[in-house]
Amino acid sequence: MHYISTRDSSHQASLSEAIARGIAPDGGLYVPGDFPHFNTRDFDGLNELPDIAERLLAPFAEGDPLASQLGDICREAFNFPVPLVTLDQAPAPASVLELFHGPTCAFKDFGARFLAASLGRIPRADKRKLTILVATSGDTGGAVAAAFHKKPWVDVVVLYPKGLVSERQAQQLACWGDNVRTFAVNGTFDECQRMVKEAFLDASLKESHQLSSANSINVGRLLPQMTYYAKSSLELWRQLGRRPNYIIPTGNLGNAMACVWARHVGLPIGEIVLATNANQTVTDFLRSGEWQPRASIATLASAMDVGNPSNMERLRSLHADFEELQGQLGASSVDDIEIRGTLRRDSHELNRIWCPHTATAAKVYRRMLSRGARGHWVIVSTAHPAKFNDIVESQTGQEVPVPQALATLLSLPRQEQELEASLSALRTQLQTT
Ligand SMILES: *Cc1c(COP(=O)(O)O)cnc(C)c1O
Repeated sequence: MHYISTRDSSHQASLSEAIARGIAPDGGLYVPGDFPHFNTRDFDGLNELPDIAERLLAPFAEGDPLASQLGDICREAFNFPVPLVTLDQAPAPASVLELFHGPTCAFKDFGARFLAASLGRIPRADKRKLTILVATSGDTGGAVAAAFHKKPWVDVVVLYPKGLVSERQAQQLACWGDNVRTFAVNGTFDECQRMVKEAFLDASLKESHQLSSANSINVGRLLPQMTYYAKSSLELWRQLGRRPNYIIPTGNLGNAMACVWARHVGLPIGEIVLATNANQTVTDFLRSGEWQPRASIATLASAMDVGNPSNMERLRSLHADFEELQGQLGASSVDDIEIRGTLRRDSHELNRIWCPHTATAAKVYRRMLSRGARGHWVIVSTAHPAKFNDIVESQTGQEVPVPQALATLLSLPRQEQELEASLSALRTQLQTT
């Protein structure tokens, strides 16, 4: 298996190279040069996530030095549960896929831990430390910091938009120290992401640092996200004999892209519906066919405040024809008023406390039902509600218990610096301190 750039398929890389580089030399994103094909029988006898993951990802690592270590990588990365919970009180058959049982209580732990386990096993000719540069809309930075904290071969630099993440997320981003540096950037997530992209193309930084990315542009984060779609869809397929449909809270389109890839390689997945917040770049595109990135706007589901989702480039490289693409995906947008209403209503009617991101998917589920949708629906739950206690508790009137993993991080001192939203400010920080 080789990986190609979305912009120029003559740029080829092995899995290790694609993971180590993060972004292709031409600024494009790495995608598999061709996709394997599975049928459900290929997973017979496999029930646990690390085992399913190893089988699923084997062809994606074929021919690469990581192939022989894939089992170890999967066991190291996926060492926490991924429950699929039946939503008993739902008006129609539905389950919740809980992706928040990792160390930082959001789905980003899957990708970050797999990436750390992989990068740690890739030999490097350059003996300098690696510098992982990560822009975060709230959860990525914490997950990456947790996954790489105290690993001797790497430094981590986290950029987050100051004031645009929840208090507890900010604490999770800045509680690390040691080999992790956290910058509160005076700007939006899109600006943080632009700084990272520019840093990668900057000749002077290339000279001084061995940069690598941990954003969802890294294929080493996307591949592992396919695995929970594999596990949960197989589980429901075996139980019900039909393909479940998924509703996925969407920002930068990384989580959803992984689901699209999982279906593309033959896993039993029916419809895929994207739930966005009031940032409507994706929903507008799927309606009109016109791609119009714009500045992001702040919403209650802040980890999805993305106006120019990077992974659209991957989606369009998979389905170059717009009508074909349109047939592959549904999308629906949920505003803050609806997020609040859904948090309140579902806490009573479904006995579920959502995080604000998951609430967008829960709202879209009800919308789909009111439009006559059938089948079994999976609401993808991307974070634990305790990370967003302010908004969640004010709407539901219930206190959200704090999971142990989060309580530990909340008790640590906060260590961060402010940074202007420019490449030169970042360059100065990296090169002078
Ligand atoms: C990152 C994140 C999202 C959005 O995921 P994308 O892969 O960027 O689409 C949704 N919910 C939560 C809690 C997140 O942290």
